[in-house]
Amino acid sequence: MAANTMSPVFILGNDARRTRGRDAQSSNITAAKAVADAVRTTLGPRGMDKMLVDATGTVVVTNDGVTILEEMDIEHPAAKLLVDVARTQEDEVGDGTTTAAVLAGNLLARAEDLLDSDVHPTTVVEGYAAARDLALDALADLAVDADLDDDLLARVAATSMTGKGTGDGSAARLADLVVAAIRHVEDDDGVRRDDVYVHTLPGASASATELIEGVVAENAPVREEMSRDVSVATVAVLDAKFDTRETSASVEYAITNVDQLNAAVDAEDAELREYARLLADAGVDVLFCTKKIDDRAAAYLADAGITAFKSVSSSDAAAIASATGALALGDVRDIDPDDLGHAASVRVETYGDDDLTLVEGGRDAESVTLLVRGSTEHVALELERALGDALDVVAVALHGEGVVPGAGCTEIVLADAIREGAPGIDGRAQLAAEAFADALDVLPRTLAENTGMDPIDALVDLRTANETGRAGIVTDGETGALADPVEGGVLDPAAVKRDALESATEAATMVVRIDDIIAAN
Ligand code: ADP
Ligand code: MG
Repeated sequence: MAANTMSPVFILGNDARRTRGRDAQSSNITAAKAVADAVRTTLGPRGMDKMLVDATGTVVVTNDGVTILEEMDIEHPAAKLLVDVARTQEDEVGDGTTTAAVLAGNLLARAEDLLDSDVHPTTVVEGYAAARDLALDALADLAVDADLDDDLLARVAATSMTGKGTGDGSAARLADLVVAAIRHVEDDDGVRRDDVYVHTLPGASASATELIEGVVAENAPVREEMSRDVSVATVAVLDAKFDTRETSASVEYAITNVDQLNAAVDAEDAELREYARLLADAGVDVLFCTKKIDDRAAAYLADAGITAFKSVSSSDAAAIASATGALALGDVRDIDPDDLGHAASVRVETYGDDDLTLVEGGRDAESVTLLVRGSTEHVALELERALGDALDVVAVALHGEGVVPGAGCTEIVLADAIREGAPGIDGRAQLAAEAFADALDVLPRTLAENTGMDPIDALVDLRTANETGRAGIVTDGETGALADPVEGGVLDPAAVKRDALESATEAATMVVRIDDIIAAN
């Protein structure tokens, strides 16, 4: 067949939708801006919370940027990139997720204006990268020159927790607990952040939150007669049912008379007794089982002097295994003394209506657990997120980059540093760099707005104040005012700001570069 009569080549499926050029860009930018706008009102100590209800009716009330974005069930591909920005931020430094998302959204909003004025996307990308580098240089100079002592670290912790369920006056105490927890897992090699666990237990106010020097399981022993206080305990973790082999393989018996039935029951009893003996012979004092424990087996375990827990959550079991040095067994019959863990004590404590088992002095890791209390489950869960962020920022602050003034001070100074350096950037990329500075301004402006200040006046005053000194929009209780954030104790880890600058720039430039969306249906 001659070339000119060849039929057209279809590379896309029938249902694929394709959007190109400026249409593609503006669809992406609009979506990303909408996402950034959604979290903007939650920024800072006076930021509002969001209530998110999923398809099954589960409610989450939160002020946490990444949680909001993850729960929002976002479909648009470019908007999803912004969710990834927040997620990366959360994974890498644990805080600053709203900041990163708001910055990315505003970088895109300003990119759109530049594209409308015929600045080429690659020029925007170039200008943004240059501006980011200017900002990163300036950030290094902003580090607060002070010892990272417990007092300062507690302020960093408190800064990250403000506006997140700690409004009942418990913030200072929680911040101290966070610092104590991190200090506990600090050694010459750094901070073993993974050895700090956070466990929520609703039913008391946040001020009842405490630090436990060990790990916990939200369970009580399966039988009353089992010991509730075992010292120098050998610990087994079983990640399987504690039952007869037959039941787990669900074999059916062909039973035709009572004798056969009795024989079968006796055989099962013997088997269960044998398993309990296996554990006792191996020296096990305490058994944590992630699944069910047969009732008869529980009695045999009690007879053998073993304290047993059933239905232990897999996260609790993992923490216990890691702290005590136990290896989770997939089958009781595989028990090997090498797989057993050790703890100085395993004891049951009662908290209100709940029993909690504390495993202290584990052989392998000096773990600690923040037992987070909150009046209701929603409150406790929001506090758990806040404490998680606070633990991360304290760990990150200790890692070396230090801390910078918060309350919008850093953003203003960085924006000004970009404006100062912009004339050194060639051609139209300079416009993009200036747009980057404008996007940074949105953060202090939002803090001002969320505090009820006039955003334009606040920004002008803030800029003037930073020409001669150091100022931010420091909120104390109900009101915000221009003040020195360092004196006001509002401090963020430099790493949180660096990560936000890097990830927001990366996401924005990625979206700007796209000129073709091909969506399979
Ligand atoms: P993110 O998800 O970005 O961490 P937040 O809602 O936690 O968002 O707000 C963080 C911002 O709030 C930071 O810039 C921080 O410096 C600022 N901030 C925290 N506490 C105060 C305070 N008391 N006064 C003013 N700003 C504060
Ligand atoms: Mg925060």
